[in-house]
Amino acid sequence: MRVSVIILVLFSFLSTSAQFARHFKNQTLRFDYFHSGNFEDEYIVQDEILKEGPWAGPRKNLIDPFDYGSYKLLVFDLRSDKLIYSRGYSSLFIEYQATEEAKTECGNFPESMLLPMPRRPVRLEIHSRGKDMVWNKTFETAIDPKKDDISGPAPSVYPVEVIHNGKNPRRMLDIVFLPEGYTAEEMDKFLADCHRYRDSLFATRPFEEYKDRINIRAVLALSEESGTDILGDSIWRNTLLNSSFYTFGSERYLTTADFKTVRNVAARAPYDQIVILVNHPKYGGGGIYNFYAITTVDDRNSGFVFTHEFGHSFAGLGDEYQGSGTASDDYYDITQEPWEPNITSLVDFDAKWKDMLPVGTPVPTPVSDEWQGKLGVFEGAGYMEKGLYRPYPDCSMNIIKFDNFCPVCQRAIRRMIGYFIEH
Ligand SMILES: [Zn+2]
Repeated sequence: MRVSVIILVLFSFLSTSAQFARHFKNQTLRFDYFHSGNFEDEYIVQDEILKEGPWAGPRKNLIDPFDYGSYKLLVFDLRSDKLIYSRGYSSLFIEYQATEEAKTECGNFPESMLLPMPRRPVRLEIHSRGKDMVWNKTFETAIDPKKDDISGPAPSVYPVEVIHNGKNPRRMLDIVFLPEGYTAEEMDKFLADCHRYRDSLFATRPFEEYKDRINIRAVLALSEESGTDILGDSIWRNTLLNSSFYTFGSERYLTTADFKTVRNVAARAPYDQIVILVNHPKYGGGGIYNFYAITTVDDRNSGFVFTHEFGHSFAGLGDEYQGSGTASDDYYDITQEPWEPNITSLVDFDAKWKDMLPVGTPVPTPVSDEWQGKLGVFEGAGYMEKGLYRPYPDCSMNIIKFDNFCPVCQRAIRRMIGYFIEH
């Protein structure tokens, strides 16, 4: 029995690596493009194609099993037309489309996706999710890795420091911490902050269970000036990643639109997920699925903000709170099931946490003492008071409560860790 199990495990391992090796090399291809448009139209224009370091992403899960995000990258073998790689993601552009500005003007945002380096010519497609949640192809191009002009990685002078583990990236979830607004004199502070945020992550369930399966590295990149831009107070700082508060007019919303620089700085380390630590005491941050998480480091709740934003960027979790969190109050269409695993419009609750609900739980579940601390279906989530539901009264995706991801968010995080780690 045991021998057959070992043979089976060995066989599936061999077939996974063989599948990867048939189509890909152990190198990362970076596809940079511009995403522009307004509230109803979008355009994708190719920028650069770059070669980066060894492929740090999964090899067993070449086809994305989650279907999260507003966009997805699809890679087809050109000759056989077979889908050989896919990955969902979101970006600032989808949020821009919901702003007042996008009703009269056009925005233009650099975006970028990573894929393992194909051995043979491929067709690369980008699909966008329509308001009806149906995927539409918005871009396609052919890439011939032998003939096309693929530039080497941007030369980078930044050293990389291991914060946690530093094992072979191939079998691990690899997180890279990038510094924003740390001057040369503040690099020791950055390293101390990295260790503090490592501790915050591993003090949070379920991440603490996977301590041995997560690498954290830091790129020691300097900014000319300390801090970040605060647009509402007319404060401007010359910083490496060009971050700012007041994104889309929201005071606490800290982001950077300069994703190309983010990728260039991150490229020094093998990574699956980017976390930007901003050297500032103001409360705030941001997290976009499979794009990046960003947080300040010196507010008393910064450790919580980091885990909350990482919930968005890593596991695709939605905000479970009501009220205005974004530039638009009708960010979600409640006649459709949202893609985030921890909120539901009940249009397709079977696809969410229905299987986890204890027998006899009323749907929707009343917000009363009886249901405090219990899993249910509570009305109010995704910035809306009506029509969207959350799984828990007080999850970390709802209120400022450290180490309090609800069972549904924890399951989504575990599944995402499982996507990255390999045995
Ligand atoms: Zn939750």
